[in-house]
Amino acid sequence: MTPADYDALGFMCGLEVHQQLATKRKLFCRCPAGVRTDRIDAEVLRHMRPTLSELGEYDGTALMEFKTRKEIIYRLERGSVCTYEIDDTPPFPIDPEAVDFALEVSRLFDLSLVDELHVMRKQYLDGSIPTGFQRTAMVGLGGSIPFDDSELGPGRALRIRQLSLEEDSCREVSDHGHTIVFRTDRLGMPLVETVTEPDLLTPHDVQRGAALLARVARTSGKVRRGAGAARQDVNVSIAGGRRVEIKGVPSHRILPRLVHIEAFRQLELLRIRAELQERGVVASLLPDPPPGSPWQTSPLVIDARSILRKSTFVPIAEATAQQMMIAAVRLPRFRYLLAHRTQPGMTFAREITDRLRVIACLVGRPFMIHSDVKDYGIKGSRWNQLRVATDADDADALVVVWGATDDVATAAREIIIRAREALEGVPSETRQAHADGTTGFERILPGPDRMYPDTDTPPVPILDESVDAVEARLPERPWQREARYRDLGLTAAAARRLAASPWAKLFDALAPSAGVASRLAAALEKRVPAILRAERPLPDAASLAPLVRALEQHPGPFADLFEERLAAALATPTVADDLAAVPAPATAGEIDSIAHAVADTRSELRTSDPDARLRWAMGKAMEMLRGRAPADDVRARLGAALETNR
Ligand SMILES: [Zn+2]
Repeated sequence: MTPADYDALGFMCGLEVHQQLATKRKLFCRCPAGVRTDRIDAEVLRHMRPTLSELGEYDGTALMEFKTRKEIIYRLERGSVCTYEIDDTPPFPIDPEAVDFALEVSRLFDLSLVDELHVMRKQYLDGSIPTGFQRTAMVGLGGSIPFDDSELGPGRALRIRQLSLEEDSCREVSDHGHTIVFRTDRLGMPLVETVTEPDLLTPHDVQRGAALLARVARTSGKVRRGAGAARQDVNVSIAGGRRVEIKGVPSHRILPRLVHIEAFRQLELLRIRAELQERGVVASLLPDPPPGSPWQTSPLVIDARSILRKSTFVPIAEATAQQMMIAAVRLPRFRYLLAHRTQPGMTFAREITDRLRVIACLVGRPFMIHSDVKDYGIKGSRWNQLRVATDADDADALVVVWGATDDVATAAREIIIRAREALEGVPSETRQAHADGTTGFERILPGPDRMYPDTDTPPVPILDESVDAVEARLPERPWQREARYRDLGLTAAAARRLAASPWAKLFDALAPSAGVASRLAAALEKRVPAILRAERPLPDAASLAPLVRALEQHPGPFADLFEERLAAALATPTVADDLAAVPAPATAGEIDSIAHAVADTRSELRTSDPDARLRWAMGKAMEMLRGRAPADDVRARLGAALETNR
């Protein structure tokens, strides 16, 4: 697909990048940051329950988490956690180092800094934060950085909406059924969350934008590197759809496929909506079951145990043997839509099973089957019995679900809710990225009420002195660095690669002149990665400088020796003294005599092709003359010698 195709789709995407700051301590207590441990000194068990917001409403996400009835277990290790993180002590003053680092990263993103930090609470009831909220403070807003790498051409900008300083959440250990287990070593570590405007208009631009954000933040040297230190969420929408947030994207490489698949999932959901509208399906056909067991209170749900008692479909037979609940849910005029494809290898039914796994905590494999499935599962005659019992006609679809009674009750309600949401097209939700680029339901997207002021923390003024100090030490931004490299004669692509490379500092310290900068950049790019892979240190600039100076002063034949001398210098810890030794130029007489000597041995070569013969002769002659004579000169004299000695 071309950028114009995505434009026609109304594709828009923004990023939220989370990067841990390389501080010594956590954000609101004095525990060390950056400790990762598998020791367990204590466990804490919590249940979450929603409270009314100040507007007197329950947040949708909060209600969803409440429905899951999860037991949340925290594994604590003495050295990396205190009573603050588990909400037994009020917060300590905010870590000044973290504030300082966040100011610097904000300025790199060209953001306007706030005068005061106002700490807010952002509600999180998934258990990943024991208090049920995350403390967060906006540091900067309203920036814009050059996005020259855009697929849509140079001269574009990526607008940055805001940067916040936040606490990191717990590390999830396992999540099965009604039990979720977390570790608290990471909890409370300072991180910056950078949010862009939806300026990324093609899947490749999403990847390039993410790479740009990572590059800018890394420029500060104040963000942590390595596994788990940087995580990104992607917000995707298409025309007529809704914003969907994809969480936990493991790498930039997967981004284009991930957002492409999400765009088409939304398109398919809109097609399903159009089909439902065509069929005259309205929300009132799918009412929420009244309180009580749905199979007793809802006309759409039946207890299917007696009809399926003798079913030979193994999962149902096992559910019967284990005396589990089995319910059938009728979805009016949904026939064949459950088999409608929404993602590669997935149908609309998967939207429902994902929801049930998360909200009803069903764990069977499988725990659900539907009437659009052909040649598998429940026999046709039993489907017919279920149709009669649920009052279904040929236009309706049926879903059968089994498991623990309470979970099946929750599941039956969620099936109806998700079917009703199909009438709106794309539900607002957060989704989990899978390694193959597909996604699965994670939770309902939180409403706007989830942020409220933190009464434990007074506002923190940002002093002019701190801002001045940050401005004074602000490093060169990546696009400034790239422009400087282009001025040295590097191509735009080479400048970008060098600016992002770990050897850019070495390059700068070597201070090459414009005449040799491209050659030095190319040689470093070719030779340094192997040194870094072998985890060997790079030589310092002082030991390599004579080689670069020699190249600047002898731009002729010596250039042929440069890369191999550089490779030798990188490979040996103590650089040889003769690194910068420039061989004496060969005289015309010397070149001639070598040319004739090589020409005399041409009987070794069995070809009459004059070009092949000259290439072979050049190879032999340059073995003796490399770095001492210009190749053009050698070629001309060899050509003459090969003619005369015929
Ligand atoms: Zn602590």
